[in-house]
Amino acid sequence: SKFIVGLTGGIGSGKTTVANLFAELGIELVDADIIAREVVEVGSKGLNEISAHFGNTILNKDKSLNRAKLRELIFSQPDERQWLNDLMHPMIRSKILKCLESTTSPYAILVAPLLFENGLDRLVNLSLLVDISPEQQLDRTIDRDSVSSEQIKNIIDSQAPRAERLSKADDVIDNHGKISALKGKVITLHNNYLKLANNT
Ligand code: ATP
Repeated sequence: SKFIVGLTGGIGSGKTTVANLFAELGIELVDADIIAREVVEVGSKGLNEISAHFGNTILNKDKSLNRAKLRELIFSQPDERQWLNDLMHPMIRSKILKCLESTTSPYAILVAPLLFENGLDRLVNLSLLVDISPEQQLDRTIDRDSVSSEQIKNIIDSQAPRAERLSKADDVIDNHGKISALKGKVITLHNNYLKLANNT
């Protein structure tokens, strides 16, 4: 079957930047965050189950999911959080697998910020970590988004620690340098992945 690379890294590490370089080389991407939104889009089985469980007050006026409200609800109620995870995770996994199966490039990339945290590493042949320091995560995310450093720190703390990610990843792409330094690194990895894909 298909050779799949799991691309991961903490908030602001450069996953999207790296993924786009692979896409320029013709490699198809599947984005776990996009799929996680699709399984609860208006009219989906996922959103119908959520509104049946929590009531229609979990919906916005336009019938879409009120994410802030849901976040608040599960933050204070661990069993509700568990219920939601049990509903969402199998739907997300099966949609990811379906999307990966439908790709046609020599190998495909699953982009997933929480690849290890959510056990999505089980769906891939090899994991590739984009690594920077927490200080750089903070600096680059503040430059990109208009959010407080407090909010970004909370997100960094909610994700796996850097050392744990480093110990789990098969390949690491160092993104401490300039964006222009990434292209050569990506080409080297790409050539290696092409070889591995040919041998599976
Ligand atoms: P998130 O998980 O938050 O979506 P991400 O891992 O996809 O983040 P990117 O969006 O690719 O990260 O990068 C975060 C920000 O840092 C972007 O504004 C990007 O342009 C910038 N960036 C990425 N790599 C570098 C680099 N080597 N030097 C300077 N800026 C960079």
